Order: sequence, then C-alpha cells, then structure tokens
Amino acid sequence: MPSKAINLGATPIPDLDVIIIGAGLSGMYQLYRLRELGFRVRVFEAGTNVGGTWYWNRYPGARFDSESYTYGYSFSKELLQEWDWSEHFAGQPETLRYCNYVADKFDLRRDIQFESRVTAARYEEETRSWTITLQDGSSFSCRFLITAIGPLSTPTLPRIEGLGDFKGASFHTARWPKEPVDFTGKRVAVIGTGATGIQTIQTIAKEVGHLTVFQRTANWAAPLHNGKIDAETQKKIKAGYPEIFARCQETFACFVHTPDPRGAFEVSDAEREAFYEKLYGERGFGIWQGNFKDILTDRKANATISDFVARKIRERVKDPAVAEKLIPKNHGFGTRRLPLETFYFEIYNQDNVELVDIKETPIERITPEGIKTSDREFEFDIIIYATGFDALTGSFDKIDFRGANDARLKEKWKHGPQTYLGIMVHEFPNMMMLMGPHTALGNIPRSIEYSVDWVTGLVRFARDNHLTRLEATTAGVDSWTDHVKALGVGLLSNEIDSWMTGINSNVEGKQTRIIARYSGSAPAYRARCDEVAAKGYDELRLG
Ligand code: NAP
Repeated sequence: MPSKAINLGATPIPDLDVIIIGAGLSGMYQLYRLRELGFRVRVFEAGTNVGGTWYWNRYPGARFDSESYTYGYSFSKELLQEWDWSEHFAGQPETLRYCNYVADKFDLRRDIQFESRVTAARYEEETRSWTITLQDGSSFSCRFLITAIGPLSTPTLPRIEGLGDFKGASFHTARWPKEPVDFTGKRVAVIGTGATGIQTIQTIAKEVGHLTVFQRTANWAAPLHNGKIDAETQKKIKAGYPEIFARCQETFACFVHTPDPRGAFEVSDAEREAFYEKLYGERGFGIWQGNFKDILTDRKANATISDFVARKIRERVKDPAVAEKLIPKNHGFGTRRLPLETFYFEIYNQDNVELVDIKETPIERITPEGIKTSDREFEFDIIIYATGFDALTGSFDKIDFRGANDARLKEKWKHGPQTYLGIMVHEFPNMMMLMGPHTALGNIPRSIEYSVDWVTGLVRFARDNHLTRLEATTAGVDSWTDHVKALGVGLLSNEIDSWMTGINSNVEGKQTRIIARYSGSAPAYRARCDEVAAKGYDELRLG
C-alpha cells in the first residue's frame, strides 16, 4: 500500500509517521491497524522476536488464566477460524506459536526492528515530532509515538546481599532461557509465590530432586481445571466466537465471567456454601470474577469466601502446620490478583518439597552454595526468582521520556501516574500509551483491541484534519486521575500491598500504595473513550 505521509504543513518530515515501542500483543495489533491505513510505521522491540510477555516468560508451567478462546485476537475472522487452541488454558509455548503465526500471517516482521531496546524518547516542539534513541545509539524520528511496553514487563530481583555470589544456575522467571532447564535430581529453590511462582512450583515439583519454596506472603489460589479441547468443543467454539466476544464486551473485566447479581448474605448459608462449591469446581476465574457482587468490597462477605477457600486448603494439605502457612492471614480472597493452580497445594504433601516462611525466618543472604536464612543454610543447584515486576510504571521509568518544556515523565509520575484516559499525558504531545497505568486491563487482549482501535482512530483523525499536535490538557488529566482514584475507594484490593497497588519491595521509592490501576468496568471505560472520540476529541488540545 502506498504511504500517505501525514500533512505536515511547514514542519520537516520525520523519518516515520508512527513509532511503536514493543512487539507484544499491543504493538503487533497496533502495527497491523496503522499499516492498514497506509501510515509509515516501525516497531522497535528489545527481544529477538514477537510475543512480548509470551516471548519473555518461558518459565516452566507458564500458561493462560483466561480461557484460550477469549484471549486470542478477535479482529480477524479468518485467524479465528484457522487457529485451534489445544487446551482451555493454553501453555506459553502454544501462545508464543500463536503470536508468531499472527506475525507471519499479516507479514508484521518487515516493520519490526528486533534487538532494539529504546532507552530515550524526546519530544521536539519545533518539529512537533518525537526522536527515540536505541541502546546502540541510533535514533529515529516520528510524528506519533505509541508505547506498547506492557504493564508487567520489567522484572525485579530481590535486594538481597550476595545475589551475584551463587555458584549454581539462577533465573528470573521473566528472563527464562530459551533452552530447556533440566531439573532432574536437582536441589531447587523458588523465591516468590505469586501467579508465576505457583505455576512454576507446581510444574517443576514433578521433576526436581528437592524443592524449597521461600514464601513471604501466602497467596490465595483456586483450581484452574484445565483440559484439552476436543474436536466437538473446537467446532462449537469456532461457531460461537461472535457470542463469546460479545459476552466479553459486556462483562466487568472482559472475561467470560461476570459477578453474580446477589450479595453473599442474600442467600442462606447452605446456598452460599453450594455456590462456592460449584465455583471451586469450575474452570477459570469464575470464583473471582463470577462470585457474589460484594466479595471484593464488603469485609464480611469476603470473609465467607476466604473461610471457604481456607477450608479447602486445610483439606488438601496433609500437614496442618504447613496448611496454616499457606493460608493468607493479611488479606481476603481475591483482593490480590488471584493465581489459578493445578494441584499446587498437593505438592506440599510430597516428601521432597519444603515450605519456608521467610517472615518467620528471613533470608539473610545468598551464598555461593545457596541461601542463608536467620536459622539455616540451604544448599541448592538452582535458584529461581519468581519475584515479579516493577509493574505499570516500571517500564516507563526505564526509558528517559522527555516531553514539551523538557518535562520528565519519571518526575511527573513521582507520586503516582497522572494520565488522560490512561492513554495520554499532559506535556507529552503526540504520545499515546497502550495498556499504560489508569487504563482498563482485565482480560488483556480484549482491552488491547479496544485501546489500539481508539488510538488508531485518533491518529487517523489527526491525518484527516491536518493536525500535527495532540495533547492532553491539565484539566483532562486531573479529572481522569481523580476519577481513577475515586473508583478505587472502598475496594478491599486497595488495602493490601501488591503490584496492583504499586508496591514493589525491590524497587527504591515503590513502598507507598498508589492507585495506578483503573478499577471501573470495561464497558464504562469504553463508553467514556467513545464519547471523547464522538465529540471530535475536543477535550484534547489540538493543533
Ligand atoms: P507477583 O504477583 O508480584 O509475585 C511476586 C512474588 O515474589 C510474591 O510472592 C512476593 O512476595 C515475592 N517476592 C518479591 N520480592 C521478594 C523478596 N525480595 N523476597 C521474597 N519474596 C519476594 O509477581 P508474579 O507472580 O510474576 O505475577 C505478576 C502478575 O503477572 C500476576 O498477578 C498476573 O497479573 C500476571 N501473571 C499472569 C499469569 C497468567 O495469566 N497465567 C501468570 C503469571 C503472572 P510478597 O507477596 O510478599 O510481595
């Protein structure tokens, strides 16, 4: 398709109309949409291939927690019919194959420059353009800059003394090697019991010689109930895609599950128990997203489901002392992002698995041989850090973003992000964020498709109206930021440390809880963004 460069008036022509940072699910689809409209686009990606999260997180047992058929892209009917998901919750290798399939099918790689980590991005007022700089020192200019750098993509290691001293092999789960790691007969440590740690632990426990799990905070988890998709179900899924995606559009967080309209105390004790039992036996996030409407806002309602799941853990773990360690005491069920598990609790019944509560006996240092806690020295062949990410703002902090008036994004967001619709920032004209802070996340590809389409609409609007400068106003940013904060009031999830409240003990300056996540409903988010577009983006400063 011939390139239709944006009408630039008197300003010089930048190298590209649009630069996208990141070739994960957001960046790939954004490239597809903008190229379709004839824009000159290039994606810069740090990895050697597409896939983002699914490229980097190759740890054992990595898989979807959303139903596979609700997770894939919905924009191409042909793609939907061609691709067969093999399981209800596909594993990472399959999802990475899917990303590669999409890249091949739509010939995306010709506009993606791999092994190109962006280190800085500077807005130049004179030319109304952005210049990005790569790690190798090369630079490229564009009219519009779109960040597709992911909410959970900057892994963090613990700040523990001696980290570099260990003589064995050690890995962060999000920087897992491409070659398989052999665990046979090995003494393995895992630090971290979030969604990643749980998937890793339950998978490698079958292979290791001995496994020691270092748990700082117990996490609630519920059964995934994965299974193969048989031919009959495959046919039904493919025939039912329009209904599946229509349903995801209607629900609170774009999952197929939606809250039960009843409160936990609007039913009898027996009915409540039966309902929880049913949810515990069902696939996926139903027990979290499809539970009584008040379990995440009403402490007493939450206690009923927390008690139920605690009983399940006690039933599943034979040693009562270990079971108690595995039951969270500082937060209620579902108030952190719920990990889904497959016989996770049962692995603590294995003779070769040990749970160490590091609140009781803290890790003092990593030694050349292993890990020293306050009461013991452990020897290991492999240490796995499942210690999470500098979430939401961490990947922005790593790039030196400089906007108009030399404003620094990191400085602007020092006390928490300030955004307009989670997409734009005052003093950062022509920069749009996909899956940045303050935007609806949920079942993420559904949110990605919406945001990409919205951003595409805005860039097209600029071209059609010969606009070369789009900026969020301070009023727009203040009002959205206040709205996001107001939505967080009363949510039990804002009363506990987690990546969702901006806490990361391993990162300087991230020890204060903030509201960095949009916690309203996805339909409400879309309605607000649609309204802005329908009114010709008149809330933006356009020039
Ligand atoms: P996480 O939820 O932040 O968990 C990190 C774990 O490491 C926590 O148990 C944390 O303990 C522990 N930890 C961190 N620093 C530590 C330290 N210095 N010493 C000891 N322990 C430490 O990270 P994650 O498990 O990687 O998951 C992040 C998010 O990624 C998930 O919530 C989810 O949204 C996404 N994810 C999705 C999937 C999926 O869809 N299937 C799978 C994996 C992850 P504390 O709790 O005490 O901080």
